[in-house]
Amino acid sequence: MHFLRNLIILFLICIAIKINLCVPTIPSSLKTLPIDGHFDFKQVHHAAKDFGNRYSFLPSAVLHPKSASDIATTVKHIWEMGPGSHLTVAARGHGHSLQGQAQAHRGVVINMESLQGPKMKVHTGNFPYVDVSGSELWINILHETLKHGLAPKSWTDYLHLTVGGTLSNAGISGQAFRHGPQISNVRQLEVVTGKGEVVNCSEKQNSDLFYSVLGGLGQFGIITRARISLEPAPKMVKWIRVLYTDFATFAKDQEMLISGESTFDYIEGFVIINRTGLLNNWRSSFNSNDSAQASHFKSDGRTLFCLELAKYFNPEEMAIVNQEIMTSLSQLNHIPSTLFQSQVPYIEFLDRVHISEIKLRSKGLWEVPHPWLNLLIPRSNIHIFAQQVFGNILTNTSNGPILIYPVNKSKWDNRTSVVLPEEDVFYLVAFLSSAAPSSTGSDGLEHILSQNKRILELCEIDGLGVKQYLPHYSTNGEWRSHFGPQWEAFVHRKSTYDPLAILAPGQRIFQKAA
Ligand code: FAD
Repeated sequence: MHFLRNLIILFLICIAIKINLCVPTIPSSLKTLPIDGHFDFKQVHHAAKDFGNRYSFLPSAVLHPKSASDIATTVKHIWEMGPGSHLTVAARGHGHSLQGQAQAHRGVVINMESLQGPKMKVHTGNFPYVDVSGSELWINILHETLKHGLAPKSWTDYLHLTVGGTLSNAGISGQAFRHGPQISNVRQLEVVTGKGEVVNCSEKQNSDLFYSVLGGLGQFGIITRARISLEPAPKMVKWIRVLYTDFATFAKDQEMLISGESTFDYIEGFVIINRTGLLNNWRSSFNSNDSAQASHFKSDGRTLFCLELAKYFNPEEMAIVNQEIMTSLSQLNHIPSTLFQSQVPYIEFLDRVHISEIKLRSKGLWEVPHPWLNLLIPRSNIHIFAQQVFGNILTNTSNGPILIYPVNKSKWDNRTSVVLPEEDVFYLVAFLSSAAPSSTGSDGLEHILSQNKRILELCEIDGLGVKQYLPHYSTNGEWRSHFGPQWEAFVHRKSTYDPLAILAPGQRIFQKAA
């Protein structure tokens, strides 16, 4: 009898231990940490959502920090708990990740938007800059710096993203050919490392941490402050689009425009595949005053390539700018009848995608699954890529905008963590698909994912030297191959700044040791 009772007790103890091992409980010590902000252990569902709308991992707690010190105290506490604790920490900027990168399964999500850093401060002078919180949205930085006639040099197409979120990736848009991505335009950072230390870093001070964090996918530290380079802001923008039927001509013109001293301040391009409907147009929001011309954008079953250019100017420079533009355009080989031009305020041009967001939200089309695929493709292979993808894989329709434009690698700093193709010029190709909820047709999630898979297989089989931007992988082998020769350095940086792999678990690169 005793034996049986002891056996049952032993069995229950084993189950208890197992549960304890498998289901980490949030230590009550978190509740007593000396912080100015607070933890929420109940309202955590929001932190398990992102723009991708496909992955959802519930955290155990959400920290609403008031200061960098709140973040440091929390991370340090978890670091001091040692490898025995399963707790991880994810900074959540604006939650615009695509595959749960800002989530932390049963861990702590830091709601960066609660951070109340020192006020944004613009410094004028010969080399102007702005000091901002890592949680600041780029749209707010634009509004603040414009008060001083200044603005950041390099942008993303959409400005409702945080500084910490885009600097953890790169931050690429049509200005990158000239100024490099956003990570090339940062002078200094304040970072909370995986050991809970608050460190200032720049090219001169703690430079290895500085470059590790830039493009570092949140692996080495949480950006709490950043110093961003500024330039004089223009008042107006000439916004121009021209169309091509032939990819080779389109790409040749794009490459010519990004080489040397370009007239234009922004150069992008996109693919038009049998275009109709709002979902296909959402990113463009092109406001042509001539509706007859705008109707040309319907490609009637064909694939067209649209070159998109912008020239910044102030009203008093209008005549000379018009002349420069006409000279540059005369060197292009687009379909002659397809020149669309408009003139908009600078702020309207930069915030263009937000207008489409409002439209899509009102129709319930913003919070749908977004199986996006972003690739960086070496110039020498862009033709074979385009031929296969636009000639074979995506012939009838696309489920959202497809951006395609080249950038100069010389504008990127090879000390950062970001992974790039091995050529001086490479293209960003972004398949920005939206899936119709519960559709099983060509606009459904499964179909789009299988198209993405075919595109990735093509890159793999043909050895095109393609790298994913905003990369997403599930196995260690895939990450190794993504980083290639940079893998060892990346691992070394991880072991230096976040040795227990506490930070950004949603990227699924490292697993916290147990
Ligand atoms: P989150 O999704 O909140 O976080 C992203 C990653 O960074 C996570 O791993 C997170 O843990 C980490 N992180 C967040 N904050 C910090 C911090 N302070 N310190 C350290 N790590 C942190 N990208 C471009 O380059 N160019 C574009 O034109 C562009 N356009 C976009 C348009 C839309 C509509 C969307 C949804 C995304 C776009 N992106 C673009 C991608 C965007 O840059 C990334 O998704 C970015 O991560 C989003 O920022 P976020 O603040 O929402 O970050």
